Amino acid sequence: MFIVQCWIEHPVRRLDQTFTYLSDTQIETGCRITVDFAGRSVTAFTESCRYTDLNVEELEKKSGMKLKKITSIVDSESLITDELHELALWMRDQTLSTAISCFQAMLPAKVKPLSGRKNIVKERWVRLSSKEASLTPKQLEAFQYVRERGEVRYSELRKLFPSQAKALIDKGMLEEYEAERRNLLTDTEGSETKRTLTPAQQKAMDEIVQSSDDVFLLRGVTGSGKTEIYLQLAEDALRKGKQVLILVPEISLTPQMISRVSKRFGASLAVYHSGLNDQEKYEQYRLVKTGEASIVVGTRSAVFMPFQNLGLIVMDEEHDSSYKQDSQPAYHCRDIAIWRGGHHSCKVILGSATPALESYARGLKNVYHLVEINERVNGTLPEVTIVSMRENMRKGGSFILSEELKEKIRNRLENHEQCILLLNRRGYSSQLRCRSCQSVIMCPHCDLAMSWHRDIRRLKCHTCGTEMPVPRICPVCGSAEGFTSMGFGTQRLEEEVRQAFGNDVRILRMDADTTGRKNSHASILASFGRHEADILLGTQMIAKGLDYPDVTLVGVINGDEGLSRTDFRSCEMTFDLLMQAGGRSGRADKKGDIVFQVFDPTHYAVVSAAKQDYVTFFKNEMLFRRAGQYPPYTYMISLTFSGMDADKTMEKALQVKNSLHGDFRVIGVISLLKISDLNRCRILLKGKNLDIMRDAVRACLDEAKADTKGMKIDINPIMLD
Ligand code: ADP
Ligand code: ZN
Ligand code: ZN
Repeated sequence: MFIVQCWIEHPVRRLDQTFTYLSDTQIETGCRITVDFAGRSVTAFTESCRYTDLNVEELEKKSGMKLKKITSIVDSESLITDELHELALWMRDQTLSTAISCFQAMLPAKVKPLSGRKNIVKERWVRLSSKEASLTPKQLEAFQYVRERGEVRYSELRKLFPSQAKALIDKGMLEEYEAERRNLLTDTEGSETKRTLTPAQQKAMDEIVQSSDDVFLLRGVTGSGKTEIYLQLAEDALRKGKQVLILVPEISLTPQMISRVSKRFGASLAVYHSGLNDQEKYEQYRLVKTGEASIVVGTRSAVFMPFQNLGLIVMDEEHDSSYKQDSQPAYHCRDIAIWRGGHHSCKVILGSATPALESYARGLKNVYHLVEINERVNGTLPEVTIVSMRENMRKGGSFILSEELKEKIRNRLENHEQCILLLNRRGYSSQLRCRSCQSVIMCPHCDLAMSWHRDIRRLKCHTCGTEMPVPRICPVCGSAEGFTSMGFGTQRLEEEVRQAFGNDVRILRMDADTTGRKNSHASILASFGRHEADILLGTQMIAKGLDYPDVTLVGVINGDEGLSRTDFRSCEMTFDLLMQAGGRSGRADKKGDIVFQVFDPTHYAVVSAAKQDYVTFFKNEMLFRRAGQYPPYTYMISLTFSGMDADKTMEKALQVKNSLHGDFRVIGVISLLKISDLNRCRILLKGKNLDIMRDAVRACLDEAKADTKGMKIDINPIMLD
């Protein structure tokens, strides 16, 4: 008999411990099994399994409880490695989440230990058998085809030899078998050669290679050739027979990175991002587990790939907020990357033109080894013009496009060069306002304004998804005078551009509406890369990582929009966006031109971004962070509660607040915006010692002094609005 300890998904956080079952056979750690739990059949995840001489009765007597046998075994081999097992348990402590949620976060959907799972797709393959028989010439040809390759997909053989494939199987010359569907990324057309590093790149590279430190922060202005350094470090690691992980922020820039990596290193590449479907993700996961893939390019969750032998981790654009998962386990990819680097004793390179303030502060304190490149590969810095929109409107101009920017666009169109127009609209969208009382149409379920979708002439709530036509009368004052739109989106911007330059300008628009379909990011970008359009226009998703030689003008519309928000990171995010936008222009030999359209041209975030001067921004922003005792001067833990009943939710939060004790501040209870009919509120812990804060929350969970069911824990939250 075997005694199995396993993790089970359980709504009560306090019960996060393993449960004991019995099994007739040995099961590896990290397999899914099904068990009966309180009368329900649930999927569990094995923690350990050990043999015992005792029988059921003896065991029950010894443990003093009733023991059940497991119902079935789902996986015959472990889904994870020992390292990932250890990592999950560490993550559970760090993020105060349940163990099962950590395993779920690290496994691809197909094999997540979730009740109600999906099936793995298998396909039919054929290989030679040991049997002999006489063959027709055509059959012999098919036979040779298989012999040359060792194994062939049955579907492929059928396509090439429609009438011979089955005959060979019937004659026993080929044997059939089933295997999990696999997929190698084979799009490796063309090749890219290694470049000779510039002296500045070489210096940075040498510093990294020659140092015995593990974690590096590579701060290099946009266009300083960080990617080339990543690729050469990757080459070193691959040459030593090790695996390489390259993390990139979000899907919008993976196509470019993938194509650069695959052109350099060929087909041993796996990719992992949210654009893949469940089956594709699983296939990529398998490629890494079996060691067929030696280099992975992927977004946040790729940090959990089952590497055996990592030689390098690169985290590009390390400051990007998409590296933080905000649902439980609310981990930061950077922490996981550094942990894994430690486990494999490999270097971790955090790269960015605009590191997170936390990271740069660590760099200055030598927690990370700071390596800096202050010049671009091509030596030129873009020329930035700051345009005051207040001034433009005072002179009777539009609030969307300034005269200066129009002039520059006209010039580019005449010279057959490309422009990018970036509309900064973080958390803000077109709204409809009553002509009579000026009130904005709100979502009936959320405390948020509805967005006006001009193309379908309907209103949508971007948070809960409610959709409706424009009301005939104003819901607030009852007036029938109608509505006007004040804010504007990319569609409106496109119209404005067409109005100014005529309908022949070729425009590509990239925003949430045009990129809903899979791979549409990639195809829009590729099309722009082939110069099939003159202007690429979109939201912040076009700001990063794009590298097009023909782009000589970047215009940022509403450049300082984010500066008026309520989050302590607002400035940093706006600065990042302006810096990234600035880095998009003039990367090849052509001189680049940038226009920031803003309302406050003297703000330090705007002025330092215009000079591509991270360090000055950092110094200014740190003064503000220090005055308000915000990160990196403190750590934070946010606890959020939600429920249908506003009073009860608030009551629950208050109870938790009263049970938290330690050397830290507790801010709140703060009421948040209602979302999907749920009232939400938050408590914020702020202090210098994260461990003390974590212990206080853990004590509150464990000792059940308060009802913590449904409480959402976020350690070092990125967004607070
Ligand atoms: P970053 O990642 O720092 O923004 P990239 O690595 O994308 O910069 O490099 C910017 C541009 O310079 C790219 O077009 C790249 O191909 C080119 N480049 C990088 N390193 C070199 C080099 N050593 N010699 C010539 N061109 C280079
Ligand atoms: Zn009204
Ligand atoms: Zn809503």
